[in-house]
Amino acid sequence: MKADLLAQLVNVLGEERVSVTEADRLLHGRDQSAHPPHLPDAVVWPHTTAEVSAILKLANERRTPIVGWGAGSSLEGNPIPLRGGIVVDFQQMNQIVAVHAADFQAVVQPGIFYKDMNKILGRHGLFFAPDPGANASIGGMIANNAAGTRTVKYGATRDNVLALEVVLANGDIIRTGSRSVKQSAGYDLTHLIIGSEGTLGLVTEATLKLAPLPEHFSAVLATFSSTAVAAAAVYHIIGSGLGPAALELLDAAAITYMNLDEAINLPVAPTLLMEFHGPTVETLQTELALVQEICTDGGATHFSAGVGREERDRLWHGRHQLGEILFRAHPGERYLITDVAVPISHYPELAAYTADLMSRMGLQGALFGHAGDGNLHTVVFPPADNLAIDLHSFNDQVVEKALRLDGTCTGEHGVGIGKQKYMVYEHGETAIGVMRQIKNLLDPHGILNPGKVLGD
Ligand SMILES: Cc1cc2nc3c(=O)[nH]c(=O)nc-3n(C[C@H](O)[C@H](O)[C@H](O)COP(=O)(O)OP(=O)(O)OC[C@H]3O[C@@H](n4cnc5c(N)ncnc54)[C@H](O)[C@@H]3O)c2cc1C
Repeated sequence: MKADLLAQLVNVLGEERVSVTEADRLLHGRDQSAHPPHLPDAVVWPHTTAEVSAILKLANERRTPIVGWGAGSSLEGNPIPLRGGIVVDFQQMNQIVAVHAADFQAVVQPGIFYKDMNKILGRHGLFFAPDPGANASIGGMIANNAAGTRTVKYGATRDNVLALEVVLANGDIIRTGSRSVKQSAGYDLTHLIIGSEGTLGLVTEATLKLAPLPEHFSAVLATFSSTAVAAAAVYHIIGSGLGPAALELLDAAAITYMNLDEAINLPVAPTLLMEFHGPTVETLQTELALVQEICTDGGATHFSAGVGREERDRLWHGRHQLGEILFRAHPGERYLITDVAVPISHYPELAAYTADLMSRMGLQGALFGHAGDGNLHTVVFPPADNLAIDLHSFNDQVVEKALRLDGTCTGEHGVGIGKQKYMVYEHGETAIGVMRQIKNLLDPHGILNPGKVLGD
């Protein structure tokens, strides 16, 4: 990085919030995916929107790449600074600006981590529902449109953001949306920015929709003879009008990994792990009785509901840790994570196809997903002695199947680096052309997270 640009950054932020040390650059050169690292030239830590605006103005004038950074927990290379430049780390912009408890809303800075935020919001009896497994930042969740186990009831990040403050590539600051839950005034810039992976602007403030903490809840476990039978039950549970707060599919391998690592003792079989919330014990019990009936009719070999709080917390901890558990079990091995999603009626076909493909290709790992949203993940590892196995071919085949089933190449992890090759296939040339025009309009010099989503 040119010395004069560095000097200008120091002028804006002070020396302690601009770093070119190798340690800081290494820490901001890779995420949790298998994509190779690329180091930025500098890392900066702004405290205010005005500072972010000044950084972007400088970078735009100098045509220097700018990449936003939250927690670096992405799974598709989203924050890797492919073209070097400046990483803007938002971890020191991590305040709750306001809690509007009577409106079920909070205004926050982007660097706050959602688990930490929810601990504070819990004092108001509220929480932000989207819950990716990692302790991600709100800015990173907005940029990737992250989702999680509770999306089936509460929606993804996109459904829980009302307004944003965004700094554009040229340093201009815009406010999008409002605190009204109904909005119909003009083009929806809020939802254009959400999911844009830091390629259209940097988010400096967000107004979030919150949910009341549930009064009563129960975890439910149902096991089935095969992954496809379990996936078919998902369709019937959703179709019955039941409102699960979580509905997760785990194949037998996923259960084995969880049992080993988390000292839980679940029956080893394809499993639906669910949660139901209710305002009263009675409404909860009515829902649990109905879900038991549906699972039994759908071929469940084992069903347990009313799991106590301690056991319930352990189960969800195990589910949230599954990614980490898999990596701990396969240290240093090649791996690939998939993230396709399809309409719920096609979920059994997608699950059966993917399980069969894993077995035909001799891949180890696990198949699991947010089944209530039609979102299916695998984390796969080829046998260490078989270098011929092409993990990308596995991904290609799973994505092709999902697209044929009217789905998408990515339900929640975003396009990042690895999904770019599917974009035209999924959206068509004309729609991609419109996306390119939007990108060119908002970021004419291509400084924002270059090389991502649509490529350069
Ligand atoms: C074990 C594990 C489990 C996971 N489970 C899930 C899951 O269930 N569901 C799910 O959706 N994801 C999951 N993820 C992926 C990850 O947590 C999400 O993608 C999350 O949204 C990333 O947030 P982050 O704060 O780490 O962002 P980063 O990885 O730091 O950045 C993500 C993107 O946001 C951009 N960005 C960051 N801050 C800003 C900002 N202020 N303005 C504009 N752009 C910005 C970055 O440039 C990048 O493109 C999981 C990850 C791990 C490691």
